[in-house]
Amino acid sequence: MPLNMRLLAPTMGDEQNIELPPFGKYATGIFYLDKLHHQEFEAKFASLAEELDMSVLAWRTVPTDNSSIGTVAKNTEPFMRQVFVGVKGDAPEDELDRRFFILRKRASHTIPSSGKRFYICSLSRRTIVYKGQLTSDQLWTYFPDLADPLYDTYLALVHTRFSTNTFPSWERAHPLRMLAHNGEINTLRGNVNLMKAREGVMYNEEYGEKLKDLYPVVEPNLSDSGSADCVLEFLVHAGNRKLPEAVMTMVPEAWHNDPTMSEEKRDYYHWAACIMEPWDGPALISFTDGRFIGAILDRNGLRPSRFYITKDNMMIMASEVGVYDVDPSQVIFKSRLKPGRMLLVDTQEKSVIQDVELKQQIARSRPHSEWLKEQITMDELRQTHLEANRSSKPKYEPSGLGDKRLSLYGYSTETIHMLLLPMVNNKKEALGSMGNDVPLACLSNFAPLLYDYFKQLFAQVTNPPIDPFREKVVMSLQCPIGPEANILRPDPKQVHRLWLKQPVISIVDLEVLKQTTHRNWSAHIIDITFPVESGPVGFLKKLQSVCEEAHQASKDNQIIVLSDRKAGSERVPISSLLALGAVHHHLIEMRARMKVALVVETAEAREVHHVCVLLGYGADAICPYLALELASSLRDQGVLDTSLTDEVIFQNYAQAMQTGINKVMAKMGISTLQSYKGAQIFEAVGLAEDVIDKCFRGTHSRIGGVTLETLAQEAFQRHGNTYCIATDSLILRDTGNFHWRAGGEKHLNEPASIAALQESAINKNQSAYEKFRESTMESVRNCMLRGRFDLRTLDEPLPLDEIEPASEIVKRFATGAMSFGSISLEAHQTLAIAMNKVGGKSNTGEGGEDPERYLDPQKRSSIKQVASGRFGVTSSYLAHADDLQIKMAQGAKPGEGGELPGYKVSAEIAKTRHSVAGVGLISPPPHHDIYSIEDLAELIYDLKCANPRARISVKLVSEVGVGVVASGVAKGKAEHIVVSGHDGGTGASSWTGIKNAGLPWELGIAETHQVLVLNNLRSRIVLQADGQIRTGFDVVIAALLGADEIGFSTAPLIVMGCTMMRKCHLNTCPVGIATQDPILRKKFTGQPEHVINYMFMLAEEVRQLMAKLGVRTYQELVGRTDLLKVSEEGSAKAKMLNLNLILTNALHMRPGVNIKGGSQVQDFQLENRMDNILIEKAKGVLDGTEKTVDIEMKINNECRAVTSTLSYHISCKYDEQGLPDDQHINIRLNGSAGQSFCAFLVNGITVTLEGDANDYVGKGLSGGTIIIYPPKTSPFESHLNVIVGNVCLYGATSGRAYMRGIASERFAVRNSGAVAVVEGVGDHGCEYMTGGIVLILGLTGRNFAAGMSGGIAYVWDVDGKFSTKCNPELVELCKLEDKEDVDLVKTLLHEFKDLTESVIAEQLINEFDERRKEFVKVFPYEYQRVLKQKATEQMVNNVQQNHEPKIQDIEDAVTDVAMEQKKLDKVRGFMKYPRETGMYRPAEKRMKDWDEIYNFGHVRKGLRVQAARCMDCGVPFCQSNSHGCPLGNIIPKWNFLVFQNQWRQALNHLLQTNNFPEFTGRVCPAPCEGACVLGISEPSVTIKNIECAIIDHAFENGWITPQIPQFRTGKQVAVVGSGPSGLACAHQLNKAGHTVTVFERNDRVGGLLQYGIPTMKLSKNVVQRRVDLLAAEGITFKTNVNVGKDISAKELSEEYDAVVLCTGATWPRDLPLPGRQLGGIHFAMEFLESWQKKQLGANHSGPHAKDKNVIIIGGGDTGCDCIATSLRHGAASITTFEILPEPSPKRTADNPWPQWPRIFRVDYGHDEVKVRFGGDPRVFSILTQEFLDNGQGHVSGVKTVNVEWTKDESGRWQMNQVPGTERVFPADLVLLAMGFLGPERAIADQLELTLDARSNFNTKEYKTNLPNVFAAGDCRRGQSLVVWAISEGRQAARRVDEFLNQGQTVLPGPGGIIQPSTNPVACPV
Ligand SMILES: Cc1cc2nc3c(=O)[nH]c(=O)nc-3n(C[C@H](O)[C@H](O)[C@H](O)COP(=O)(O)OP(=O)(O)OC[C@H]3O[C@@H](n4cnc5c(N)ncnc54)[C@H](O)[C@@H]3O)c2cc1C
Ligand code: SF4
Ligand code: SF4
Repeated sequence: MPLNMRLLAPTMGDEQNIELPPFGKYATGIFYLDKLHHQEFEAKFASLAEELDMSVLAWRTVPTDNSSIGTVAKNTEPFMRQVFVGVKGDAPEDELDRRFFILRKRASHTIPSSGKRFYICSLSRRTIVYKGQLTSDQLWTYFPDLADPLYDTYLALVHTRFSTNTFPSWERAHPLRMLAHNGEINTLRGNVNLMKAREGVMYNEEYGEKLKDLYPVVEPNLSDSGSADCVLEFLVHAGNRKLPEAVMTMVPEAWHNDPTMSEEKRDYYHWAACIMEPWDGPALISFTDGRFIGAILDRNGLRPSRFYITKDNMMIMASEVGVYDVDPSQVIFKSRLKPGRMLLVDTQEKSVIQDVELKQQIARSRPHSEWLKEQITMDELRQTHLEANRSSKPKYEPSGLGDKRLSLYGYSTETIHMLLLPMVNNKKEALGSMGNDVPLACLSNFAPLLYDYFKQLFAQVTNPPIDPFREKVVMSLQCPIGPEANILRPDPKQVHRLWLKQPVISIVDLEVLKQTTHRNWSAHIIDITFPVESGPVGFLKKLQSVCEEAHQASKDNQIIVLSDRKAGSERVPISSLLALGAVHHHLIEMRARMKVALVVETAEAREVHHVCVLLGYGADAICPYLALELASSLRDQGVLDTSLTDEVIFQNYAQAMQTGINKVMAKMGISTLQSYKGAQIFEAVGLAEDVIDKCFRGTHSRIGGVTLETLAQEAFQRHGNTYCIATDSLILRDTGNFHWRAGGEKHLNEPASIAALQESAINKNQSAYEKFRESTMESVRNCMLRGRFDLRTLDEPLPLDEIEPASEIVKRFATGAMSFGSISLEAHQTLAIAMNKVGGKSNTGEGGEDPERYLDPQKRSSIKQVASGRFGVTSSYLAHADDLQIKMAQGAKPGEGGELPGYKVSAEIAKTRHSVAGVGLISPPPHHDIYSIEDLAELIYDLKCANPRARISVKLVSEVGVGVVASGVAKGKAEHIVVSGHDGGTGASSWTGIKNAGLPWELGIAETHQVLVLNNLRSRIVLQADGQIRTGFDVVIAALLGADEIGFSTAPLIVMGCTMMRKCHLNTCPVGIATQDPILRKKFTGQPEHVINYMFMLAEEVRQLMAKLGVRTYQELVGRTDLLKVSEEGSAKAKMLNLNLILTNALHMRPGVNIKGGSQVQDFQLENRMDNILIEKAKGVLDGTEKTVDIEMKINNECRAVTSTLSYHISCKYDEQGLPDDQHINIRLNGSAGQSFCAFLVNGITVTLEGDANDYVGKGLSGGTIIIYPPKTSPFESHLNVIVGNVCLYGATSGRAYMRGIASERFAVRNSGAVAVVEGVGDHGCEYMTGGIVLILGLTGRNFAAGMSGGIAYVWDVDGKFSTKCNPELVELCKLEDKEDVDLVKTLLHEFKDLTESVIAEQLINEFDERRKEFVKVFPYEYQRVLKQKATEQMVNNVQQNHEPKIQDIEDAVTDVAMEQKKLDKVRGFMKYPRETGMYRPAEKRMKDWDEIYNFGHVRKGLRVQAARCMDCGVPFCQSNSHGCPLGNIIPKWNFLVFQNQWRQALNHLLQTNNFPEFTGRVCPAPCEGACVLGISEPSVTIKNIECAIIDHAFENGWITPQIPQFRTGKQVAVVGSGPSGLACAHQLNKAGHTVTVFERNDRVGGLLQYGIPTMKLSKNVVQRRVDLLAAEGITFKTNVNVGKDISAKELSEEYDAVVLCTGATWPRDLPLPGRQLGGIHFAMEFLESWQKKQLGANHSGPHAKDKNVIIIGGGDTGCDCIATSLRHGAASITTFEILPEPSPKRTADNPWPQWPRIFRVDYGHDEVKVRFGGDPRVFSILTQEFLDNGQGHVSGVKTVNVEWTKDESGRWQMNQVPGTERVFPADLVLLAMGFLGPERAIADQLELTLDARSNFNTKEYKTNLPNVFAAGDCRRGQSLVVWAISEGRQAARRVDEFLNQGQTVLPGPGGIIQPSTNPVACPV
């Protein structure tokens, strides 16, 4: 209010006998004080005034009446005193204002002291602020002054907001001193930091040194608005700007990309941008200084603002129309504020100044365009660089994947292939899916980069994210960098800055910057590396010295480059983020930050997230040189397209970065990089205070965590990994951060637990569930915050029968919001059926639901989501829900919209979503009807009206402050809140979002519960936790932290068959879940029962835990944090976390409040709805007794969502169709309608409104008709006036709307079927429209038709400029020519004219032939495509029709290799190409020789096709040593590399895990293939063949050469036994530099490889080749030495530093039956070994099969080898006995995937026998009883009996002989091949080694009971496989190395991954 002399002068006269000076000569204002201290403060204030040559004239206690205010407000009510201050002497007005300002500022800085209240609401000559924690109604009674009739005013600025989302306080209430703000400043932290930094370069001549008295400009502890107010005031009083210009500087328009903006205005903004970054965020800022009053809207138009001007010169502006009753006949103008525009009233001149005029005046006030010529550009710098003859080609240091620096900076092959290369190839980031399930950085022991500790914050509820795709016109990455000039004096110096178009700079440009001398600029380069030898202490010292050096450099330079270029073997780099953060903050503190640009030259940063964090902490430009160098060298190596130049590589990469940065900024609602920079919009998870204080001040880090010292150690760890232990690192360490990798980071979803979960749910198998629980628990302990907790259990649990039954607990379970579209119909429906059966809930997700589904009580999802894309949201959809859930954010990608790639949008999906088949759908990140908490409250209300039965839920994502947001949401009357964790799954999103945004739900739920309790709101809300919840433990933790309900997504998907392929976004889910491909959908095998089984097993686990906790009902668990304690286990890093905040018991914060969620009902006051009257009046039509009803009523803006409930009743009865065609409800209304007028209006209702309406008219229009025209008495011309507000027809699906007048911003966004006519629209009209018709008879705003893929808009292009305002990306602008179009437009014009009496329509009809040419048809290309397809009757029924025909014959496919190379499809290869089966030579041929049986030539030919079958699984089960390859071979990777013809790289990957692939590639039974995910429904990938081919190819090419270790440790190791385990162990130890001697008792090296496995399977040349290599590498082999006999084991152990026993399981199992002693009965090994020795030239003394009847007992691999050998000997007959029954041809239920398939197989020997003898040699279920004698002591036959296997009651198999089946088989040679019992005993006896129960060497981590004796292979593990033997040998070697190196090892662990060291050391070469 302006000062009121009529009231105040007499009042002061009467009350205090004081005569106030004349108006304008004194200042007054209200102070908040407390009664106790007010005198003290008033005295201080008075004396300060005196000091500044002013005097306090009087104090007055402000009259107040608190009788009507709330208790909370009353509790903190201030004592209000009004001061009157005069100035001594006379002074001009400006001077007066300045002095009062100084007084108030200094008082605010110096007087407050803690615990005492002192706050000055305002101190001004013209205005006075009355404010408080009051509603607008309470204001008038609270301040009797205001109600005084004497109180009159020429302006008033009133601000009221929805019960605020923050903790309210009197001080923070609006208006502030100059502004009132309806919005949120997202960039606050950066703005405040930079304002502080600016203090170093600010100067004002009038203030002189006194300026410093005003610092800090932004007073501490203010709200965002408070801070903005401070800066605004400062600019006005000290910045030589008038109020409007100051506002314009802080909240500029989106000027960068606006071609319609005048040049002078653009130049002004450009100049102003060099002065200050925007204060960005949604805002309607109204401001006044007592003369001017005005308002400005943010650049995106995210707040509504409407105004009327009346005939008597009154202007009423508010966020709604109808707030103040005006006679319509008096209104001469109705308009709105447009995005970025300003409206100003000059009360002195009595004029309204509109935006254009105002800004033109300001733009012309100085020669800004001229000044801009002073700007420095990159081009200019490049030019001078060239002219100065400086080298323009800087050195690249490309060395490909072998570059050591990659490892130093934690690059992995995974990130290179998944993130970097797609950026260079496709100019955008790659998509991923299925969430993030790896450990938080603070729990990871793999030395994650510092960036990983930072989680991007995002906008939710209180402010909106931005749509960076469709609304990119408002986004900009352009920035001025370098020294800022004095902001307080506008002049050309301000543009002496370098203008960068985007922040990522090339290596070339960096060099230019570094060397520049242009305009006397210079750069100082600071090395951020330090010498290795200075150790971690050096790290900290260096950090400090970098800061000091930067400060020093800022004095003489304009650019500082922080560079890690010098890092290498001798120097360790400090993280560039750490260095940057430290320098940025140090320079701010020193007030030097604005003097320089900070440029980061970094090898470390390469991902979008990295660059964003750097920008967020103050980097001005970043040169990620290593990423660029790597890309160049990969181009050189042919991995990238060789035609890409360095320049193009940079451009592509930078383009991808820009898109990524825009997306990250947009999710926080920030549009310009200038304001994002330094805004610190991150939360740190797991960083300690010292890190935050030093480098990231002001960043939230709620759970403490790792210190600078730990970060230093981790830097050393990375350095050590790179330079110390290159011994066995052939490839970059890849810890499997995205896809699971054996031996890498733990994932929550890893093979063992996925397999166990599926087995448990499918078979209702409790023991499998137990396995699942155990393995998941281990992962939870490693990955999740909740894993840090233990439960406080009772010694004696409660009896289980006292615990709430599982059937009740499951009712609290819900499945997550996975949309139909993202997942298949089958999967979606299965979940729904299951959850309906158990009484829980399933969720539609955002994709909508077809009526066929939602009308079926079994198949419907009871939770229906309403997301920003509004897919299928109709009145009927809403009416049939139990819960309506507003999706504000999604855990996996908060701040981003849902994403469905085009190839997943099948015809069926398109129908459900009301969209166009084949066109990708990316939902807008914001709901366009939710730009504030008030808007959310409105949507909640709308939905409640659209279905009063439904519970309204709001889905939020965990981040700091989510509790406060939730409390706002609760006040907005939500009844249910979901808090999702960051780790939830998603169908598709960029990895940046999946990995780096959002926080764990543990933090979110705890915070939400606590804040709701604190605000006594908890009882109104049912709270659900959601995100990677799996086990009963997870559920109980969630409950104890405050969750009433639990959401599950990934786990039920796994139960239904999901294997975490992470291919959802590719539509290639091989198990038919996340796909719309009809072929793949057929593979879906999930059953509702499986889901139900899981839910109940889980609930039972919950019950057991409840019993242990002593809690009987779930409800009693809620909020009981006292039952939790922090675990004492865990890694050192994990122990650093401080979880006290989570563990705070909310009830201790506010004892006694009701915390039972949902026990208090939200009061929507539905009884007051206008709809009640409408329903009553329309009763006859509703119950079918009447055909038509006409209703007439008045309406005002308090009537919201009018007709939504009426529509609900119709939808309940008639579903989607609305009223039957012959029934009508006609409603005529008069007045200003409240928000959401006619939302979800259904067919059959016609609403006519004479007046105007607010936002969201016709939201979700569902068939009804809306007609709106201005009051007939209003004199204005409708087409120049605004008739409806923002976001009208949002998500309309059908119906008609005729609006005579202009519609504001975002008209018909996401319209998918409605027809609308309107006389003009604001910005972003028809955005993301997918259907319907819009006719616009007037101007449009900018960005029309952005993202429009369907429907048609016809625009009358009045001024001929439409094309400049239309977004042309997806639409064609056509002429209105086609007859169909012309007829349609004419019809609509006639309808419009008839219904609204539109003058414009009438004119157009009259002049149609002439005007027709001025119409533009906006026609989306995609829509044209669809129409064309329809026309040719080839409508896309299903996008999957695009399938290429299935290739039947591989041979055909590979005939033309060149063609094939181009054509091969790796993404869908598994669907297109069959598995190669012909891996052996033909049996007829091969059985005639002893050569290897393999058909190498044939296999090789189809190899790339076979590699293309590999799906590159997210969880490659093939690799897992629980089911797949024991070595953890990196199979998907080599498959990919072979596919790409990168054999050398493939070899490196193979050798990283497997020492001898030439052996396994031949003889391994390939458990990997048994576990291959493809094997679930198709023949698995031919992994083994590919493995063999890689190594053979390498040998052939001479790539395999002896690798002699570079150094020797001097340690001696003896390995006993030279089988595969002994060889692998020796190989590894030799690599580590130890001196290895292998002792072998046989005459040749190789163990069973040499003398066991026949030559046909493994050529002895292949074995010898490897042995020779090993010998050449330095391993000594001593053959014919039987340890224990020839040399004592004890001696050996004393002589050598370590001994490894690899003696194999050589003790064969015997068959002690009658006749066993007869001749001709041999162990298989006698037979095989002797023969192989003979083949190698020895004398043969062993058994031979020629012409003999051979019986082989034992059906395993050994048996098969005996068959093949006997066959080749020329046996007369061959029979094998197997006691077990014949396996079934397919897996049985008890042998589910990925277990090794126990199925009937035909191995090479069996096949050969079949060819030779015509039948399979195997006899199953047969028991040998006796060996028969031929009378000469030689066997002649074998007596047998058949057996039968049955299960006993306990489920165990029982064997019974079948009487009467005795039989005799003739036999001349019997071979016993029944396996082995363990190692021979001699060594064990000599060394007194303990044996295990199976008589193998007993070990722990390969160590025996003797300290230096180890064991590996079959002697430790029992009879096994070659692959296991190698794996054992490798891992045993690692333990030996550790033993020899005092706990350190340089050898890789499982999966070939170097494991984290517990004691890192840096290591120069
Ligand atoms: C016939 C047959 C066929 C097989 N086929 C396959 C197959 O196709 N695929 C597959 O994956 N697996 C197969 N296996 C299993 C596989 O060969 C073994 O699991 C693997 O060889 C075990 O390796 P190891 O190093 O532990 O022991 P071994 O290979 O048994 O080597 C142990 C070595 O220690 C020596 N030794 C023992 N005691 C002493 C001592 N006191 N002093 C000095 N030396 C000693 C032995 O002479 C022998 O050379 C087969 C096994 C057999 C018997
Ligand atoms: S070693 Fe065996 S299990 Fe491992 S990948 Fe090769 S064939 Fe498969
Ligand atoms: S080999 Fe099989 S399991 Fe392994 S990644 Fe390929 S498809 Fe998946």
